[in-house]
Amino acid sequence: MGRTPDQNGRTTVPTIGVLALQGDVREHVQMLQAAGATATAVRRPPELEAVDGLVIPGGESTTMWKLAEIFEMLEPLRLRIKDGMPAYGSCAGMIMLADRIQDGVEGQQTIGGIDMVVRRNAFGRQADSFEADLDFAGSAVHAVFIRAPWVESVGRDVKVLATAAPGDRIVAVRQGPLLATSFHPELTGDTRVHEYFVNMVREL
Ligand code: GLN
Repeated sequence: MGRTPDQNGRTTVPTIGVLALQGDVREHVQMLQAAGATATAVRRPPELEAVDGLVIPGGESTTMWKLAEIFEMLEPLRLRIKDGMPAYGSCAGMIMLADRIQDGVEGQQTIGGIDMVVRRNAFGRQADSFEADLDFAGSAVHAVFIRAPWVESVGRDVKVLATAAPGDRIVAVRQGPLLATSFHPELTGDTRVHEYFVNMVREL
C-alpha cells in the first residue's frame, strides 16, 4: 500500500485518495494536503488499490453511483470497505457510505458500510443551503450544508459525532474506520475534520 515511510522507516504520511468520478475533488485534495496527507485522485481500481484511505466528496450521489457502475468501481469500492479501508464521505459521500437511503431515485445504490439510514436532500426541503457552528467530536467546526442529507437513524455500532439545528438532526457519524458528514468541511478552510480523518487513517 502507498504509505510513505519517514526517515526512521515509520509510516507517518498516509496516502489518501479522493474518489474522482464527480464532485468537489480538488477542494478535498487541498484540505488533505493541508492536514498532512499525500492526496491523490482515484478513478480506477488500480488507483483505489494504492491508497491507505479514501474520501468520497460532495456532489450528486445519483451521478456518482451511475459513474461508479460505468467505471466498474462499485464492487471494488465495496470490497475495500469490507476489508477495513478507512473512508470519509461528505454530503453525497455520506449517502454513498450509507447501508440504507431514503428519497433516493429509482434503483439508486450505495457503496454502503455504515449501519444507518440517510435521507437524501433532507435539509434541502427546508433550506437549499445554510451554515452553522457545530460541536464536532469536541471541536467547534463551522459547517456548510448544501442540499444536504441527514441521518435518519443509526445502528448500535455507530457513534454520533455531531448534530445540527433545525431539529437536532444527526449530521456526522463514525463506525470504526468509516466517517461521514452531511456538511462540506472542504469549503471552509477549516482543516479539523480532515485532520480527524487523517489521524483515523494513521491509527489503522
Ligand atoms: N443532494 C445531493 C445528493 O443527493 C448531495 C448534495 C451535496 O453533496 N452537496 O447526492
